[in-house]
Amino acid sequence: MSVLELRDVVVDYERRGGGHVRAVAGASLDVERGQIVGLVGESGCGKSTLARAAVGLVPATSGSVVFEGEPVTPMTRRARPAALVRLQLVFQNPYSSLNPRRTAGSQIADGIGLRTNAARTARVHELCELVGLPGVAASRYPHEFSGGQRQRIAIARALAADPAVIVLDEPLASLDASAQAQLANLLAALARDLGLGLLLISHDLAIVRHVADRVSVMYLGKMVETGATLPLWARPAHPYTEALIAAVPRPDGGGVLPESLPGEVPDPARPPTGCRFHPRCPYVFDRCLTEEPPLESLPNGRAAACWLAGIQGFRVI
Ligand code: SF4
Repeated sequence: MSVLELRDVVVDYERRGGGHVRAVAGASLDVERGQIVGLVGESGCGKSTLARAAVGLVPATSGSVVFEGEPVTPMTRRARPAALVRLQLVFQNPYSSLNPRRTAGSQIADGIGLRTNAARTARVHELCELVGLPGVAASRYPHEFSGGQRQRIAIARALAADPAVIVLDEPLASLDASAQAQLANLLAALARDLGLGLLLISHDLAIVRHVADRVSVMYLGKMVETGATLPLWARPAHPYTEALIAAVPRPDGGGVLPESLPGEVPDPARPPTGCRFHPRCPYVFDRCLTEEPPLESLPNGRAAACWLAGIQGFRVI
């Protein structure tokens, strides 16, 4: 059962000089407990805006965001409703998301509801251990840690609120490859062992493939494909997913070189007519230029927004 549900979320931003840009143009997704959902797409596709709408950091222009049965309301200067504290966000940059003047332990303790100092200190040490930080970490300052360790502190701080869901916005992007792999394994273990739901926003498909149970692919503000990770990876139903996967370098080699995606992401203020992907699609045909394909259900819990998905023997799953 879903704990976080996004339905037809639209987010518009005002433009300087008038008008607006539709950063998210009607996106839906669900996150269940113990599940990692990967949200992928190129820069500018709207995935970070959707992540912020999911936790109430930006207001949805229309559509709904529901967490544990309660509507997620936009954040204000007032304290969040207690029910929404269990929906946490971890930012991309662990350098700017931590206060350099406070110890790691005091920042982790912010989210702990326990009353006595001794109980709070014990819980901070427990959380440090849970995210793989050394026992002495609590008394140190952020500058004394590596990038990967700082992101572990940010995750421990989110865990302090006893969350049901954590939204992670490109949490691995600023780390080196080894720290990325270690942190990805930590996220998988947390989801499994604590029954946490994780919404993992990333432009790195290889990491998402490694840890996510399901994947949603976003292009120019819309979902174009969703499904269980391994079948989607093995047989993408949307040409954009196919192109993203083809662009991932393969460690097993096999003589297959990564292929760059053709063309550029169009301006979201002026999306192409018909299928938004048509200027870059190698399979484009007449109908694609004028009619926008809806996100249609396919067998095995998958869905894709392409006129060719599941028909003509072309993209049968
Ligand atoms: Fe390509 Fe047409 Fe499918 Fe869009 S609808 S992805 S242009 S084949």
